[in-house]
Amino acid sequence: QPRRKFVTSLLNEKLPKHIISLLKKIGMIAENLGYNVYAVGGFVRDLLLRQENLDIDLVVEGDGITLAKKLQKEINAHIHTYQKFGTAVVILPDGFRLDIATARTEYYEFPGALPKVEMSSLKLDLYRRDFTINALAIKLNPKQFGLLLDFFGAQRDLKERMIRVLYNLSFVEDPTRILRAVRFEQRFGFRISKQTLDLIRQALKLNLLFQTTGSRIWHELKCIFGETNPAAIIERLNELSVLKSLHPALKWDKSLKKLFKEIEAVLSWFELLFLEEKYVKEEVYLLGLLDPLKEEEVNSFLTVLEFPKSKKELFFKKRREIFNIYGLWQKKREIKPSLVYLTIKEIPLEFVLYLMAKLSPAKKKWLSLYFTQWRDIKPILTGDDLKAMGLKPGPIFRTILEELLKARLDGKVKTEEDEKKLVKKILKGKNFH
Ligand code: ATP
Repeated sequence: QPRRKFVTSLLNEKLPKHIISLLKKIGMIAENLGYNVYAVGGFVRDLLLRQENLDIDLVVEGDGITLAKKLQKEINAHIHTYQKFGTAVVILPDGFRLDIATARTEYYEFPGALPKVEMSSLKLDLYRRDFTINALAIKLNPKQFGLLLDFFGAQRDLKERMIRVLYNLSFVEDPTRILRAVRFEQRFGFRISKQTLDLIRQALKLNLLFQTTGSRIWHELKCIFGETNPAAIIERLNELSVLKSLHPALKWDKSLKKLFKEIEAVLSWFELLFLEEKYVKEEVYLLGLLDPLKEEEVNSFLTVLEFPKSKKELFFKKRREIFNIYGLWQKKREIKPSLVYLTIKEIPLEFVLYLMAKLSPAKKKWLSLYFTQWRDIKPILTGDDLKAMGLKPGPIFRTILEELLKARLDGKVKTEEDEKKLVKKILKGKNFH
């Protein structure tokens, strides 16, 4: 029997007051319904590690949807319910979200041949999770608010800084947990336990990753690329031969490590300057991981990941463009701003950032000037001004405005007068009137 331990003061210390009240209210509602309710998973793990995490997952012994509906009435929240899974998402007026799930006893056949009868439904729910450290729960019912439930030695593993699965067939059941194990290991600076490492090796020998759906692997890869230090995770995946199980062409070496560091630097530079400009970080790192691969290899890997055909084709097209630009720029020592501008402006941000990471410092400067200055430059004259100059609107407007922009980017015009002169010159040159 686990010792009874309350983490109420830790909760009070680490969570905002209104969240505590919310959790207490949920405990009360559950109690009145005759249910037990618990906060579980990553939230509890991070609380014990003293790391901020307000992603709260609740598990209910009872009916999660009924609880969510009662809560909705009491606190003026929005809910989405998923009848089929017995889950609900509660969204508070301030945008805060809570996930509520129903603990179910009859999941599927447990490969570990578990004596089900001996377990509460909470314990069963926790047992099918990935690692001990993710299988903690905190009870929220009023009389036992803050009671920590640790059925599987999670506190010991947190103390020993260990990633450990809950049963031997865990990776057979869900091979994506291999990727998760390495991700958590590197995120927290933990170690995967020896037994769990052996289980990973066995699973790899059976080529189990290969049998998982590509979209689940892509999901886990995205999680990896979303971490603070994806390079460390990929390096470890390589060390454990997981990388080559994902695809034989994937590798990790010094130059890729350098590219990842460059990507990291470029992304933090970009985020610092252009906070609200959104891009998909995961895609930049995917481009990085695929950097040394041949096109057929990229194709076959993206097929494994179940990228839809259209997405795959767009990815290729843009990747090819980047490789071409990179090749051309390698040969140049100087470049006109207008050329950078025209080359880059139609390329999705993720690809431009990847290109920037690949370039030498001097050439990175071309792109940093593009982002900080050149892309915002406009000619003084507008279409209306051209009309006022007696020109008839038509395709020529586009040509003229583009020429004006190029001239401005390259510092060839300064004043409005300069621009007007240039317009006349263009018209003469093109024999348009
Ligand atoms: P993060 O801080 O990355 O969000 P998390 O632990 O909250 O970490 P999620 O991926 O959000 O991770 O998953 C929530 C919980 O669901 C986890 O704590 C884990 O217990 C469980 N879980 C997620 N994926 C799996 C899986 N493949 N197998 C078993 N349990 C899983």
